Amino acid sequence: MSPAADETDILVVGAGAAGLSAGVALARADFQVIASGALDTVGNGRTVALFEGSLRFLRALELWPKLADLAAKIEAIEMIDASGARIPIPRILFSAADVGLPALGANIETDRLVGRLAEIARETPNLRLETEMLTDISREDKRLRATFASGRNVNVKLIVGADGQRSTVRAKARIGARRWTYPQVAVTALAAHAKPHNDKSVEFHTRNGPCTLVPLIAGEGAPHRSSLVWLMTTREAARRRNLASDALASEIEREVDGIFGNMRLDGPCGFFPMSGMRVTRLTAHRIALLGEAAHAFPPLAAQGLNLSLRDIGALVECLVEARRCGADIGLALRPYADARRPDIALRTNGIDVLNRSLLSDFLPVEVARGLGSLAFATIGPLRRALIREGILPYEPMHNPPRPARLQ
Ligand SMILES: Cc1cc2nc3c(=O)[nH]c(=O)nc-3n(C[C@H](O)[C@H](O)[C@H](O)COP(=O)(O)OP(=O)(O)OC[C@H]3O[C@@H](n4cnc5c(N)ncnc54)[C@H](O)[C@@H]3O)c2cc1C
Repeated sequence: MSPAADETDILVVGAGAAGLSAGVALARADFQVIASGALDTVGNGRTVALFEGSLRFLRALELWPKLADLAAKIEAIEMIDASGARIPIPRILFSAADVGLPALGANIETDRLVGRLAEIARETPNLRLETEMLTDISREDKRLRATFASGRNVNVKLIVGADGQRSTVRAKARIGARRWTYPQVAVTALAAHAKPHNDKSVEFHTRNGPCTLVPLIAGEGAPHRSSLVWLMTTREAARRRNLASDALASEIEREVDGIFGNMRLDGPCGFFPMSGMRVTRLTAHRIALLGEAAHAFPPLAAQGLNLSLRDIGALVECLVEARRCGADIGLALRPYADARRPDIALRTNGIDVLNRSLLSDFLPVEVARGLGSLAFATIGPLRRALIREGILPYEPMHNPPRPARLQ
């Protein structure tokens, strides 16, 4: 006989930045929540830039004051073409002042963000943080039964799959996913440098993808630091993986034209093969996917976690409305899927086109890229519209549909 199962409203599978944020947001909305997954708090030079829309969401959850000391302000983003294109492609500066904001967003080391979110989760009423791995899901009467590697079971009204690109929840729900790869690896590192970043992120667009430096808070003995995300060919990444830290720092310094002076690496690097993923559905019976379990693309324009926080906002709104209407939250997921599909499709397709246009040396593509850049550099309203779309794209569903339309 199997052991007696725990009961809860919602099980969030995955304890990355998306799963932990989802757990806290759902518990703050007065659902009983278990969040479970292995915590990844080992530094690998990876950071997340969170834009103003995400900061507003985290402020609304009263999370931002608990994270702000980890975050460096991003006041401007400068894009510099270094692709050797045959037509001149002007520099573009996107600045917070353009849209009347004090900052476009903030940059945080991913492992420190996860560590801090886990601390917050442990102190959040209605939320239990566990480290078990989900192995199976089965249907019970008006419930799902989640089984963990230890053999323990939990009966829940709803499972939220926030368990990353290789999601077990997605597989168990038989939700299809199409995955593709790019001939690129993103190398990540934290770099200490001689000159201040002045709260500006700089992107050098090369033929192999962007090489980006994003402001970071000061470290010990390192008053000026930025994080690096450098997309390069698989071959170059393999070569650079074997370089000594000083040699790699010199190559980074050369790639960014020495704009921040002498550089040294401040910790280990990360190497992430680039891929994309689209799912066929965001929901199944009593299951909702979010975060990288639901979408993946290269880290151009820093959209991944920003998109995931919008998933979470929409899911919480959908479930709160379902509860208010007396509906079963596990069967009320259609408004969530309807609300999220267009945003996810726009980001996944947009990043794909942007990345492929950089990789292409086809002249008409270069001309289109040049004209686009010229328009953004010189036409203020167009540039401001693009900034708003990048940093503040999502207005919450103020009027979600009523239960008659629910799944
Ligand atoms: C190089 C790089 C740079 C990036 N830069 C940015 C940026 O600037 N801005 C931005 O918004 N985004 C950025 N992203 C994306 C961002 O890092 C991710 O979106 C973010 O970390 C959230 O991921 P996640 O929580 O969805 O998935 P993951 O971090 O993959 O977490 C998945 C979790 O699920 C757990 N898990 C897996 N299987 C199971 C199971 N069976 N049972 C229980 N738990 C399980 C894992 O242990 C883990 O805790 C970047 C990504 C990369 C690679």
